[in-house]
Amino acid sequence: MSQPTTTEQIIDLFLLRVTPPDRAADLPYYTTGSIMAAAVMRLTIIGAAAWGFSSAYSSSGWWWTTVMFVAWGVGVYPAYLQYRRFNESVEQLQDGTLCGTCRHFNPTNQLCTILDEHVTSAEPPCEGEAWEPR
Ligand code: SF4
Repeated sequence: MSQPTTTEQIIDLFLLRVTPPDRAADLPYYTTGSIMAAAVMRLTIIGAAAWGFSSAYSSSGWWWTTVMFVAWGVGVYPAYLQYRRFNESVEQLQDGTLCGTCRHFNPTNQLCTILDEHVTSAEPPCEGEAWEPR
């Protein structure tokens, strides 16, 4: 997989990608960790902006209610959608590949734990020699 450009890294930092990049094929382009990090970044920015605006303008209960909706809609919900998408791809791997039935497969980051390589729907990185049942 080729390295992402700076623009792609910024896009990935905020979890703005809705379709897999060409370079990813069926490798994970977001993992649980990157999804959590992006959600925290978004919420931090929303929180800082909300706090800045609330001190600049006198804020009411409606203001904070609106902020809560924005935090959910822009901060949490996109991360939830990405997490669901990631889980669907991992489920496909678990159902359709040898690695998916192996005890060394880590579904959290779609990684073979003994080879430290991302697992895809293609040939297992160990060619089946290190496979062990769960
Ligand atoms: S040990 Fe082999 S079969 Fe098991 S997850 Fe790693 S590459 Fe896949």
